[in-house]
Amino acid sequence: MLPQLRQDLLSNEWVCIAPKRIKRANFLIKVNKNPKISKKGCPFENPLKSGNKVLLKNKEIQIIENKFPAFSLKNYCPLKEKRGPYQILDALGRHELLIIKDHFKNLSQLSPKQIFFVLKVLKERILSFKKDCCIEYVSIFQNWGEKAGASVYHPHFQIIATPIIPPFVSNLINIAKKYYIKNKKCLHCYLLNWEKKEKQRIIYENEGAIVIVPFASKEPFEFRIFPKKHIVSFEETSEKDLAYISDALKHSLQKMAKNLKDPDYNLHIRTTPLKKNKKYDYYHWYIEVITRLTIAAGFEENSRIEINPIDPIETTKILRK
Ligand SMILES: [Zn+2]
Ligand SMILES: [Zn+2]
Repeated sequence: MLPQLRQDLLSNEWVCIAPKRIKRANFLIKVNKNPKISKKGCPFENPLKSGNKVLLKNKEIQIIENKFPAFSLKNYCPLKEKRGPYQILDALGRHELLIIKDHFKNLSQLSPKQIFFVLKVLKERILSFKKDCCIEYVSIFQNWGEKAGASVYHPHFQIIATPIIPPFVSNLINIAKKYYIKNKKCLHCYLLNWEKKEKQRIIYENEGAIVIVPFASKEPFEFRIFPKKHIVSFEETSEKDLAYISDALKHSLQKMAKNLKDPDYNLHIRTTPLKKNKKYDYYHWYIEVITRLTIAAGFEENSRIEINPIDPIETTKILRK
């Protein structure tokens, strides 16, 4: 197959699928094993003792304030100001960590019920931030492994609430909005229907959730988990639908850990900004898991076009096993 440029439907980003660049997927898998790091000196074994402020604690998780927050809490809202040609504002908001209880049990090793519990707490954090009029968006993600940017081995999520809507998020929202205005239907639902007919890039599905390898994958083995129902925001998801998502997350992460030898990855919740008299009914939230098996080089930096060395159909076959 000739290398092929493909445009992602949800982000409009272009990628180049160039399968001949790497002969065997196994090459990528073997060199990227994420080594286990011992509990000794882990700051998340007893966060309170390590001088952290614990905001919530139960038998599954703890939520703490980040000791070195990028965004911190004050009793006023930041104002946008001008400095010369630039816009500036104080980086006020929240920066919290959700710490999973067991040092050696990442998401793929938890039960669907335990994953459900993690997602439920994350959802409740967003709902609590809604009361804060300064917060526009809540970024929720997990960095797993050094190549994904994790500085602490112990499995944890980051929750960063910002006083602006990140431009990348605005871009995703605007693309969905444009599509809806033109076609009177949801872009994500349309995509899911097409993938269901194609049947070539589905890793897993249950009654309420589906896991798909994007047609225009930026990275080998990336995948997206969608609620099958048209649900606009993560925090609006019912417990029943969240349970379907948890089951799908468990199975897809477990398959990835088994078949790719526990690779480094970033997991993102792609959801709407907090609603401030605004409706985002055309949007459809999802989870994105992006493996960190390749290193971005000059072309990627220069053009923002990623080169993916494996056809998404091939990665689906490997992940499905
Ligand atoms: Zn630990
Ligand atoms: Zn939809």
